[in-house]
Amino acid sequence: MNNIRQYQVPLQRYMAMMDLQENNERLFYKLLIDNVEELLPVVYTPTVGEACQKYGSIFSRPQGLYISLKEKGKILEVLKNWPERSIQVIVVTDGERILGLGDLGCQGMGIPVGKLALYTALGGVRPSACLPITLDVGTNNKDLLNDEFYIGLRQRRATGQEYADFLQEFMTAVKQNYGEKVLIQFEDFANHNAFELLARYGTTHLVFNDDIQGTASVVLAGLIAAQKLLGGTLAEHTFLFLGAGEAGTGIAELIALEISRQTKAPIEECRKKIWLVDSKGLIVSSRKESLQHFKKPWAHEHETIGNLLDAVNAIKPTVLIGTSGKGQTFTQDVIEAISSFNERPIILALSNPTSQSECTAEQAYTWSKGRAVFATGSPFDPVEYDGKIHVPGQANNAYIFPGFGLGVVMSGAIRVHDDMLLAASEALAQQVSEENFEKGLIYPPFSNIRKISAHIAANVAAKAYELGLASRRPRPRDLVKYAESCMYSPVYRNYR
Ligand code: NAP
Ligand code: MN
Repeated sequence: MNNIRQYQVPLQRYMAMMDLQENNERLFYKLLIDNVEELLPVVYTPTVGEACQKYGSIFSRPQGLYISLKEKGKILEVLKNWPERSIQVIVVTDGERILGLGDLGCQGMGIPVGKLALYTALGGVRPSACLPITLDVGTNNKDLLNDEFYIGLRQRRATGQEYADFLQEFMTAVKQNYGEKVLIQFEDFANHNAFELLARYGTTHLVFNDDIQGTASVVLAGLIAAQKLLGGTLAEHTFLFLGAGEAGTGIAELIALEISRQTKAPIEECRKKIWLVDSKGLIVSSRKESLQHFKKPWAHEHETIGNLLDAVNAIKPTVLIGTSGKGQTFTQDVIEAISSFNERPIILALSNPTSQSECTAEQAYTWSKGRAVFATGSPFDPVEYDGKIHVPGQANNAYIFPGFGLGVVMSGAIRVHDDMLLAASEALAQQVSEENFEKGLIYPPFSNIRKISAHIAANVAAKAYELGLASRRPRPRDLVKYAESCMYSPVYRNYR
């Protein structure tokens, strides 16, 4: 740690950590586990975002498996080149929507590498069982296409049938090579592909989309915890989202599902108190014809509204969630408006990395006069306002996917079911302590994350058994203990 701390520049710390991962994997994980709050922002958001932007010029050696369009027809052979045979979790991206940074093509590899490092450090999946993959289908990023250090194919993105065929070959090859029980996590695909891939492969493969499902589960956990902090139930709230893509509509749907489970009302009814704003304004029924299919369930009766501030004033939400990938969109006007009709507005600024956050923690607490229950996607330091220290929680899917993945792997689940996401949310919400609530937190600190992950894994596995989706027999009696016993821990081997 002393070595790492010599570097003042975050990107240099990132590079030092990546060198360590290459040279001494156990030590890398030991550091990451023991210093998770300090190192998470280095190997994950926000620094991993900068690393991806500069990936070509800091490149020293490949860290995952690249599969390019040029390898069409022999993807299975390429997979067989990976030295490890027994793989449990694959994180795959095509680099089209890296964090809120857009199309970074092959340079998006930093994301699957970083996510899998967290699978091991936070969730205890063995490092050798993790496989980061980047599908190189080209990039539409002109700067990268002209960059002498760009590491990927210099061509525009494949689309349509060519793209679909390539993905089909990839998905088939994965199943053929690793069997049915490898978890395939789709990460940072653009939404025009992400929803379709999840729907297409959800019934034939063990797939999970972190941006849609993982984010939904972590946000729902925060909202369940917030009910304990503030009193009341989810059904009493009105929700407004800025951003109606993978994260926004994914979260909205899981909230509706949970409310429907709690109130026994049909899900269509439960959706009516959830509103979304996209780049064209509030999503309303008169726009239905021209809406992408994943937005249609949210097109409620209302006059058209062009901007967020007017939407806040018209809808009067109690919960405001930012998932647009655009920074500084929760302006002073917006936060003052929602604070004018809520004693304790719940405000979640989820866009990553830090530069894209809807507002800073300081802005949220200052503009709401210290009343906001606030959390962000990337980490922010505590803020002192009016003599009180406010600690913003980190609403990041890093809380969920490692434990979720462990639960899936340890139960031998063969499919992901929405109820397993709800189970993960409940387990996470239960881990928020009185002491956390007193600081205004709706998420527990990351320092306890391995224990939290074991609880999430146990709850997810229990649900998988209940649904008949778990293949590992017999079912371990104490699932928390079993989860802990499955977790990789970085200790040196004793050769005596
Ligand atoms: P996405 O599918 O591309 O969706 C982005 C949405 O934002 C689209 O609906 C888009 O509108 C809308 N939008 C863009 N600019 C806007 C503007 N100026 N005003 C209003 N709406 C605008 O992206 P995503 O996967 O949902 O991710 C979005 C952000 O969430 C990213 O920054 C990502 O890093 C973050 N995220 C955070 C977490 C976490 O754990 N905290 C997890 C996942 C994602 P159109 O549909 O009209 O284009
Ligand atoms: Mn993501």
